[in-house]
Amino acid sequence: MDSVRRVGAFARRYFHPGSWPFWGIHVIAIVGVAVSGFSWSGLALALAFYAARMVWVSIAYHRYFAHRTFKTSRAFQLVMAVLANTTAQKGVLWWAAHHRRHHKFSDQEGDVHSPVLRSFWFSHIGWVVEKNPERERIDAPRVKDLSAYPELRVLERLCHLPALALALTLLAVGGWHAVLWGFFVSTVLLWHGTFTVNSLNHLFGRRRYATEDDSRNNWFLGIFVTCGEGWHNNHHHYQAAANQGFRWYEVDVAFYVIMALRVLGLVWDVRVAPPHVVRGETRAQVAAGAAAPRPAVQSPERR
Ligand SMILES: [Zn+2]
Ligand SMILES: [Zn+2]
Repeated sequence: MDSVRRVGAFARRYFHPGSWPFWGIHVIAIVGVAVSGFSWSGLALALAFYAARMVWVSIAYHRYFAHRTFKTSRAFQLVMAVLANTTAQKGVLWWAAHHRRHHKFSDQEGDVHSPVLRSFWFSHIGWVVEKNPERERIDAPRVKDLSAYPELRVLERLCHLPALALALTLLAVGGWHAVLWGFFVSTVLLWHGTFTVNSLNHLFGRRRYATEDDSRNNWFLGIFVTCGEGWHNNHHHYQAAANQGFRWYEVDVAFYVIMALRVLGLVWDVRVAPPHVVRGETRAQVAAGAAAPRPAVQSPERR
């Protein structure tokens, strides 16, 4: 009886009506491929829409809205918010507020998706789908800079529309095949690709810097899964930089796109990690001309 009660509690917590769209998209992707059969052109379409959107998860949600690592116009800011919303990861205010909290409490009590404090399941998916009003709520004081823009507040309420528009466009242009692979399969992969930064990136990889959390640099996630987000220990070490790959060999596709946007004049004041930060030296050590034994720098102050 105990195990039955536990299963019931688990189902009520993670499979409540509010989570049905999340699970429904998983079911459509899996059953759709099982029924329609595997397709190489479908997989190519899924990966193309994965890459085209993952780059905006990184550039827009993370490096711009959560960390403001570069500047842009009000119009392009809105364009980035809409592009981010095509990934169906809720509004930019919600995303930025939760992420800023992650940096404030990384792997400590208060971090909602720490795999060190909680289970892998919870850090990867559980916290997103859990029935918990706290999770739905936007911690307004954390995102005052963003909520100052009325258009972002309106988009926050309509944040599901860009993803819906993408799905309907694919359906209209390419039929079931296009929407199955280009939206459903691609979106499921994209969600899990994004979630790896919260889960795997705090468990597996190298810790170049002794940050106050368990963040890791994971080359596989950085290069093949997240458009550069996998250099997560670098990022926890210095959050103010638009680049997360600090060395030339740390491939950081999202940063390359930011630099291309800068050439086009769409973004400016792109902040990059200063050389002494990359070397792991404190300002005092730089001033004293002393090389620091690594790891030396504590994380920048928590927001
Ligand atoms: Zn961050
Ligand atoms: Zn982290």
